[in-house]
Amino acid sequence: MRTHHKFLLILFVMISFVLSLSFAQREAPPLEIIKVKKNIYEVSGGSGANTGFFIGENQVLVIDAKMSKESAKQMIEKIKKLTPNPVMTVVLTHSDGDHVNGLSGFPQGISIISHHNTRKHMDKAFEDQELRKYLPNQTFHKELNLHLGTETIKLLHFTPAHTNGDIVVFFPKQKVVFLGDLIFLNRDPLIHKHKNGNSFGLVKTLKGILDLDAETFVHGHGGIAQRKDILNMITSLEQKQEKIKTLIQNGKSLDEVKKEFGVPEGQSRWPSIVEIIYKEIKEIDSTALMLSAFHQIKL
Ligand SMILES: [Zn+2]
Repeated sequence: MRTHHKFLLILFVMISFVLSLSFAQREAPPLEIIKVKKNIYEVSGGSGANTGFFIGENQVLVIDAKMSKESAKQMIEKIKKLTPNPVMTVVLTHSDGDHVNGLSGFPQGISIISHHNTRKHMDKAFEDQELRKYLPNQTFHKELNLHLGTETIKLLHFTPAHTNGDIVVFFPKQKVVFLGDLIFLNRDPLIHKHKNGNSFGLVKTLKGILDLDAETFVHGHGGIAQRKDILNMITSLEQKQEKIKTLIQNGKSLDEVKKEFGVPEGQSRWPSIVEIIYKEIKEIDSTALMLSAFHQIKL
């Protein structure tokens, strides 16, 4: 019996090893087209973040560009199977590589629309000459309305959040919003401080999104979200911000605050949301201090 158990255990370990190897060597998952509303689709899989597209009367508008030329080309092939209309517009939700590096897989000469700051980030990041041909050729700051046939598509920027160039793509008639990386489900939100993202701005942005008359929220990394998912994210972010504020008032250091939240030690690619919030509050405090000193001098 014992030998039998041992044999099973060895077999189990061997199978897990082989499975983990094949998982590690796995190519990007296949592209999958998911219908969101009648002519609005999400594209998951491939290389990079989820993207989306809208089939208009005369053209197709794509939201985000995948991370590789190959994935973008495969996506365009899939779109061609659904409609003879050409892809003529790409809207970029922000500048992260997993959303924009696939641009060179798109036809040249199309409209590429982003926030002013997203173009600035891309201008800095794009070294490849082929990719540089795909820097956005139309940028805006607060709001841009696109009129494609009978559909009006609203592009909106609220305030710096995930980055300082985030835009949401709102289809008012169909109550659908594409959010890029403004939400993550079952995982802490991500703030890119090096792109001037801000957690308080994220709360403001999410509240602005809830004010839109929308019910379906498509985002970069995960399944389609509902209003309650956004509400939950706002609540959890505000609770964290309040708690960190109190801990700072009680004189706690960053390490102590991280411990309080159980933030694991060691290097992750991006600083935790707790660290981001801590530094933001510290910055607000020191600006307030400077301002009050300035007022005293003036008096
Ligand atoms: Zn991102």
